[in-house]
Amino acid sequence: MQIDLEAERKEILNRYKLLIKACKRRLEKGDKETVRKAFEVAVEAHKEMRRKSGEPYIYHPIAVAQICAEEIGLGSTGIVCALLHDTVEDTDLTLEDIRGLFGEKVSQIINGLTKISGVIDNTSSIQAENFRKVLLTMSEDIRVILIKLADRLHNMRTLEHMKRDKQIKIASETLFLYAPLAHRLGLNTIKTELEDLGLKYTDSEAYYDIAVKLKETEPERKRFIQKFIEPLKEILVEQGFKFKIFGRPKSIFSIYNKVKTKGVLFEEIYDLFAIRIVIDTPYDQEKSDCWKVYSIITDFYHPSPDRLRDWISTPKSNGYESLHTTVMGPEGKWVEVQIRTLRMDDLAENGYAAHWKYKDSAADKESKLESWLLRIREMLENPDPNALEFIDDFKLNLFSDEIFSFTPKGDMKTLPVGATALDFAFEIHTKVGEHCIGAKVNHKLVPLSHELKSGDQVEILTSNKQTPKEDWLNYVITAKAKSKIKNSLKEQRKKVAEEGREILERKFYKHKIDFTLQNVNDFCHFLKVPSSQELFYRAALGNVDVKEIKAFIKHKENPVKPQQKKGDAPKLEQLVTNARGSSNMLVIGDDMQKLDYKLSPCCNPIPGDDVFGFITINEGIKIHRVNCPNAIKLLSNYAYRVVKAKWMNDQMISFLAGIKIIGTDEIGLVNNITKVISNENNVNMRSINFDTDGGMFEGTIMIYVHDTKHLNHLIDNLKKVKGVTKIERIDEKG
Ligand code: MN
Repeated sequence: MQIDLEAERKEILNRYKLLIKACKRRLEKGDKETVRKAFEVAVEAHKEMRRKSGEPYIYHPIAVAQICAEEIGLGSTGIVCALLHDTVEDTDLTLEDIRGLFGEKVSQIINGLTKISGVIDNTSSIQAENFRKVLLTMSEDIRVILIKLADRLHNMRTLEHMKRDKQIKIASETLFLYAPLAHRLGLNTIKTELEDLGLKYTDSEAYYDIAVKLKETEPERKRFIQKFIEPLKEILVEQGFKFKIFGRPKSIFSIYNKVKTKGVLFEEIYDLFAIRIVIDTPYDQEKSDCWKVYSIITDFYHPSPDRLRDWISTPKSNGYESLHTTVMGPEGKWVEVQIRTLRMDDLAENGYAAHWKYKDSAADKESKLESWLLRIREMLENPDPNALEFIDDFKLNLFSDEIFSFTPKGDMKTLPVGATALDFAFEIHTKVGEHCIGAKVNHKLVPLSHELKSGDQVEILTSNKQTPKEDWLNYVITAKAKSKIKNSLKEQRKKVAEEGREILERKFYKHKIDFTLQNVNDFCHFLKVPSSQELFYRAALGNVDVKEIKAFIKHKENPVKPQQKKGDAPKLEQLVTNARGSSNMLVIGDDMQKLDYKLSPCCNPIPGDDVFGFITINEGIKIHRVNCPNAIKLLSNYAYRVVKAKWMNDQMISFLAGIKIIGTDEIGLVNNITKVISNENNVNMRSINFDTDGGMFEGTIMIYVHDTKHLNHLIDNLKKVKGVTKIERIDEKG
């Protein structure tokens, strides 16, 4: 390939100029020189490198810096770091070099970024542990994660150049961690793009299906929106509002989610868009003006009473403020309307970036972000040894919806949905939690496990005699409460173990065994107890008896080599190595491979589906569809247990697939459906279930087919049966 280096050099400079243009307003005196220096250092460092697409590598850091400047609104330090973000990781430059050239702060941030990329790309260790490190690094300086998000966004935008298995892994990780992070930081635009791109690579068929349908239905939607807003516009002008009113389409990802979770067809989703009214009004009139607009709209269209959301009086903890209502529009269609001010809109779309602009008025939101970061640091201080559980807790606590509850004095506490009275107690103070015996919610006595609702007023009852109990762990969902309870239980155990140690020492003495570390460890090993602490604990409870000590003495005199018991579960590492084999690719249907695999019943893959193998501990390899509901979790948390898999060609074996048929209850419908199925070559029905209800008809059929082509052919034929209105493939056996 001929590369025009001169043209490339020009293009690099061009892109640099665009970057400067994007951040010029935010650069202070002397900043421009530093950015220029960072640019030159990065160009030099990456000069021999190219991206997978063949482009010069430096395009990437420039693009990341551009996103940081334009879409996140970072200042010069952030831009400098974005330009340099891959240098320490991928080039000869060291952190020392960076510190020498750009100072302490920049080198700290680059260090954080380098740590993150190190952990993410390391596929051999457990992914969940890596996420913890990402979060730990991020909580040190928020810019680390903002630049990482920009880096991820650019990588997602250019993902087409990667190999398929990399694409799936990166896209899953994006959906699992980075999109929720962007959401949590209030970067709505970036979150939406990350989600849509994530879907494009994890379930491209569904993605393009929705994208095409959105495009096709656009003119019709535009007409409807026009009709809806026309009368409102007039009145808003009359009342002297300065405003924008427009229809806003939902993202492909959110439509996809609705289709999946609600089981509805694209055509049946009524809220493919929301109407947004953005008013320009002074800060101190924001709330009353938004409600005035609400009043105007509901004069015109009837609101649904249970669909009013007031995030102006109580903003979400990521700073989101808006007034939402759903009204009955023309043609009997429900329409969601979002009312907010320019400032709120900017904050909602650009989150962190916009915070700076509205610094005065947004001071307390700024502190909300700070307190969120503080919570992350708190959680990370007492990490759960089980990394995966930690990540679940983390996602639950920091990404989930929240409720607001109040102390008797009226202080508001924010907790995740599902939090209990005991969570509330720990939220107030560790001591309050530890001594909690019950609570009064809205003046009524409730147990510790009582689940709170938004608006509850909670009074915690304590007693000095109370101590945390083992089963408390089942009553709490916040990571804070969990880790405090675990710590306290550990303390209690330690005390008991101290006593046990003395008991055991006396027993050893009685049987003339020296109470040495070696002997204690050997005894642990002999009894298959995981630690000496655990052994002492058992001793304290009287669970180490003389027989065991005598057997241990015998064993010491006459050691028998431990035999691996038959049926012992093989080691996971061994399984992974075996499964990876030499080819690194599992070919389904190839008998020569002698690998034990099963098609997972959660998504019933058939040939033609995009699939991967997942190594389970007891059941060999399970094959899942890439768009299986469980796939994202598996791919992002256990990448090291994933095996590439593809279907062998020309397979004539059959696979189980499920379809759901919905229609009107016509005479002979069932008969006609079964006729179509039995007329299809080589299709065998395994089970068939039909339900009729008030003229509606719903059937679930499990059939054996060869591949997706085969299945689609059958579905096409079934669609032609009179009375059938909808057919879809289903994941699980209904
Ligand atoms: Mn990068």
